[in-house]
Amino acid sequence: MVQRLEQALSLATLAAEQGADLVEYRIDTFTDPKRVVELVERSPLPCILTCRPTWEGGFYDGDEQTRISLFEHACMGVRKPAYLDVELAAFHRSANIKQKVKLVVDHPAQVRPTDTGLILSSHDFEKRPVDLYQRIEAMVADPACRVVKLAWQARSLRDNIEAFEVVSHQYKPTIALCMGEWGLPSRVLAKKFGALLTFATLDPPAGRAPEPTAPGQPTVTELKRLYRWDKIQPTTRVFGVVGHPVGHSLSPHIHNAGFDATGYDGVYLKLPIPPEYEHFKATLASWLDYKPLNFRGLSVTIPHKDNLLRFVTERSGEIEELTQRIGTANTLTVRDDGSLYASNTDYAAALDSVCEGMGIQREGLKGMRVAVLGAGGAARAIVAGFAHHGATVVIYNRTLERAQELASAFTSGGGKVVAARLEKLCDSCCQVFINCTPVGMHPNLDDTPMPTEMRGNSFRPGVVVFDTIYNPMTTRLLREASQAGCVTISGVEMFVRQAALQFELWTGREAPVDIFREVVRKRLLT
Ligand code: NAP
Repeated sequence: MVQRLEQALSLATLAAEQGADLVEYRIDTFTDPKRVVELVERSPLPCILTCRPTWEGGFYDGDEQTRISLFEHACMGVRKPAYLDVELAAFHRSANIKQKVKLVVDHPAQVRPTDTGLILSSHDFEKRPVDLYQRIEAMVADPACRVVKLAWQARSLRDNIEAFEVVSHQYKPTIALCMGEWGLPSRVLAKKFGALLTFATLDPPAGRAPEPTAPGQPTVTELKRLYRWDKIQPTTRVFGVVGHPVGHSLSPHIHNAGFDATGYDGVYLKLPIPPEYEHFKATLASWLDYKPLNFRGLSVTIPHKDNLLRFVTERSGEIEELTQRIGTANTLTVRDDGSLYASNTDYAAALDSVCEGMGIQREGLKGMRVAVLGAGGAARAIVAGFAHHGATVVIYNRTLERAQELASAFTSGGGKVVAARLEKLCDSCCQVFINCTPVGMHPNLDDTPMPTEMRGNSFRPGVVVFDTIYNPMTTRLLREASQAGCVTISGVEMFVRQAALQFELWTGREAPVDIFREVVRKRLLT
């Protein structure tokens, strides 16, 4: 959005430094023809010139003749814009506008020396336009149109599929983008489907929010570094994290870094799906059934972990045995033959974190006394895993009935599972304590699920204390346990290992766990 000439030129220089190939100047409110010519001539990157009127979501509220004569001027300089963006509606509304625009852009009947290409564009800030394909046809049919551009507000992740279709079946270079929180895949995967370009906003100065010119645009750094734009190609396999919300998920940072480190042809996206099963089912079905997407796997988080098992069951997929008993899954793998496999990498990650902390193999867990604090989703997976390997598990929970329910679900496992009141924790003689409550999690850094009066003599050298919380990396529980000489394990270990197991299931390659740890550490410290 150009406000002043020098400001626009310095932002364009920044865009070039951040990796942009082309810059779009929105001159909606910067309408002095001489200054616009200067802007184009001094631009550090080839440019798209756009003066978007209010009736198409922009800020220009002057008359059409003035706007068109601005374009004429802008294209008269020694250096011309690479592209001029004109709305399809404006182009078709007036023969005069059409004629004037045609005088300054390149097309088969053009006699003047110009290479400025015409982008005919159409935007809908509410929904997918009902006449989407008529609009495309009208753009394609006009000989002056070099690029077809469509952007509409996505109402769900399913809208992206149509954007991919539009881009794939192009007759002219095409841009089709979905706006809003559900539109990210259309922006990142534009290259996979052969779009001419995608838009990104500048990275803001530290502490400031990005200022996108359309809702849902990633920043240049997100696009280039996080989503690895330069590596995306038609064969790229697509993965993602499904949840609601997923905005703050660390998983895209981990898995994309893993793809980068191992040279794997994949990209991992944030995929928000509203909580209801019907949304989950409809979205996953459309993404799985759209074969050109090469959609190969998902991390699934709250509130969809139960939904994943139901979906895979309905689609006659396979569910890992213990995952079936746990009743929730966090990983979907789409095999080469298209069949589905659901598993829970949380319990395996927790088991491996503890075994490594103790320097033992899983067989060594047999007969060990393990205290689990909490009886929610994380506790369920962990109780199942330890009981399966023959440990005696005591579930301490604020609500005793919930602990009892959980215990009764896994008593027939391998080890013994019992429930106890939280107050009984002080009498515990367990060798391992695992916190599966959110007590002590950011921002409540001074809280602990085991204050002095509750832990009796539990904390002593040799005892293992594992906190599933990963933000902060070292909770008060872990600090106090470490001071008492216990072996401590952070939730970062479990988080990294559950991601590593997913990565290995999807790619068949060893996960670069040290890179995963470093990514998590950096993200949590910033
Ligand atoms: P959840 O299903 O909501 O269960 C939370 C449990 O904590 C419940 O049993 C609840 O007791 C108990 N609880 C909550 N607040 C409490 C309090 N103030 N005092 C005592 N008990 C309390 O949550 P979840 O999905 O299991 O997640 C729990 C923790 O696991 C989270 O902190 C999360 O960060 C962590 N986690 C970590 C990883 C990882 O990869 N590191 C993965 C998954 C989860 P009631 O039954 O009485 O309500």
